Order: sequence, then structure tokens, then C-alpha cells
Amino acid sequence: MKKIEEYVRSIPDFPEPGIIFRDVTSILQDADGLKLAIDSMQDCLKDVDVDVIVGTESRGFIFGMPIAYNLHKPFVPVRKKGKLPCETISASYDLEYGKAEIEIHKDAIKPGQKVVIIDDLIATGGTVEAAAKLIEQLGGEVVKIVFLMELAGLEGRKKLEKYDVASVIRYE
Ligand code: 5GP
Repeated sequence: MKKIEEYVRSIPDFPEPGIIFRDVTSILQDADGLKLAIDSMQDCLKDVDVDVIVGTESRGFIFGMPIAYNLHKPFVPVRKKGKLPCETISASYDLEYGKAEIEIHKDAIKPGQKVVIIDDLIATGGTVEAAAKLIEQLGGEVVKIVFLMELAGLEGRKKLEKYDVASVIRYE
């Protein structure tokens, strides 16, 4: 059986020169790769008491949704600015390449709820740090953050040091 790392395609100079992009489509387009990715991420939640799964747009949806479904928990999307139809709160942050703003529906998290954040990859940690702040602003508690991949050299974990962070694949 192939290891999960073997399903990841690495693309040099995408979307900008100097970036090695870790592609998840090569995992998803293989049934074994897809199952291994979801199962490996879900394994990180074995001992975690969770009320809500949050996924960040857009690859956090791909991995967060099946995990929420499997655990029979609600799924809440954190979306890019201007996509959510009801009342939102928002946060701006710096990306590895560029700037972004994300939003969450105000009624999506209830005070005291235990929240797990799922994303495909941690680079600088800015996206998930911003998502965690939104969740906390609504009174939620971030009990765990799970990534499929971690670009360890960018030290994104430093931004998230107050959280319990897990990743399945680590690139130095
Ligand atoms: P961060 O906020 O940690 O700097 O960037 C992480 C976000 O950018 C994630 O939502 C992730 O989807 C995206 N991202 C950055 N670099 C890569 C990459 O090499 N591969 C993939 N799949 N996503 C990336």
C-alpha cells in the first residue's frame, strides 16, 4: 500500500516563482489516496471532544466535510470575503503570497462550543490563525487544528503555539 506522501504532487514555481506548491488533487483523484488522507486526518481526533468542525475555503472544505460527516458533527465554512449571505464577522491576514480576508457567519458557533479547524496545509499559519480568532470572537474554543500537510520551514506553528496542532505530512 502506498504512503500518503506518495500521492502528493509537488509543482515548482506555482503560483509564483520560488514556491513549491503541494497539490492535493493528485491525492483526491485516487480512491485509496482520498481515503488515506481523510482517515489519517480523522485519526488525529481520536481522543478529542468536539462539537463543531470548521473548514477554511476552499481545500479545508474538501477535508473538513467528510470528517464532520463521519463524526456526525456540524460543519461550518470559513469563507473568503463576500461569499456568505447572512451576518458575518471578518478578519484580514497576510498570506505566504499576498493578503486575504475571511468571514464566518455570526450564528455559526455558539459560546462554549468546542471547535476543530481543518485545512489542507499550513504555510505561514496566517489563514488558520485568522479563523481561530473568528471562532474565539464568537465564544468558541479551538480544541484542535488538523492539517494534512505542514511546510515546517515557514514556522507557521509559532503563530499557533497556544493551540493543539497536528499534521499528517511534514515537509522540512
Ligand atoms: P498560510 O495561511 O498557512 O500561510 O497558508 C495556508 C493556506 O494557503 C492554506 O489554506 C492552503 O490551502 C494554501 N496553500 C499555501 N501553500 C500551499 C501549497 O503548497 N499547497 C496547497 N495545497 N495549499 C497551499
